[in-house]
Amino acid sequence: MVLISLKLSIISIGLNNNKNMNIKIYLKFWKSLLKREKLITSHKKSIFNIDFSDIKNKYELIIFDYDDTISDFHGKLDPKVSDLLMHLHQMGYKIGVVSNCSKKRFSTLKKYLEKMNIYLAPSGNKPSPKGFFEILSHFEISPNKTVSIGDRIGTECFAAKLAGIEKVYLVERYSKVFGGKKPNIFHQAINGLEKKIYFNT
Ligand SMILES: [Mg+2]
Repeated sequence: MVLISLKLSIISIGLNNNKNMNIKIYLKFWKSLLKREKLITSHKKSIFNIDFSDIKNKYELIIFDYDDTISDFHGKLDPKVSDLLMHLHQMGYKIGVVSNCSKKRFSTLKKYLEKMNIYLAPSGNKPSPKGFFEILSHFEISPNKTVSIGDRIGTECFAAKLAGIEKVYLVERYSKVFGGKKPNIFHQAINGLEKKIYFNT
């Protein structure tokens, strides 16, 4: 009982700290989580541990989450990440990024990513699938030819599932694996709790 109320407290504090979130859909995520529905297809340490050549024959579009997936939290792209993204583009993948970032940061990020042929969409408040639908229609590629990669089950992984995306990768938080700026403690706690319940550990 104590454990349950502790978890509920963490969730409510986390929700209050996350203004760019669609709470109604996030509560649907918790329903799916507690019903033990399958929300991801693969769990990797980082974007560098995914064999993109192995899945190239089936998938054409990759949609990344930004913060704590391809950079540290609210950070810039490391050259090794830019190299990977450019390599994926050379392999023939279309690349999209969906982010819950603020309007001001969005326009700077959009200009930067466009130079790398990457389409950035606002998330429409994850786990709403709105940003995913925007990227799918921008590239005119169906969800069954699309891969989603993100660090959080309750936001981009669930949004990708709602958008009908076939292959959903969960990666460990970028800042946890490579260092750099971390999200706030509530964000980390709720991310960890979602994983703990999903993997039943
Ligand atoms: Mg993230």
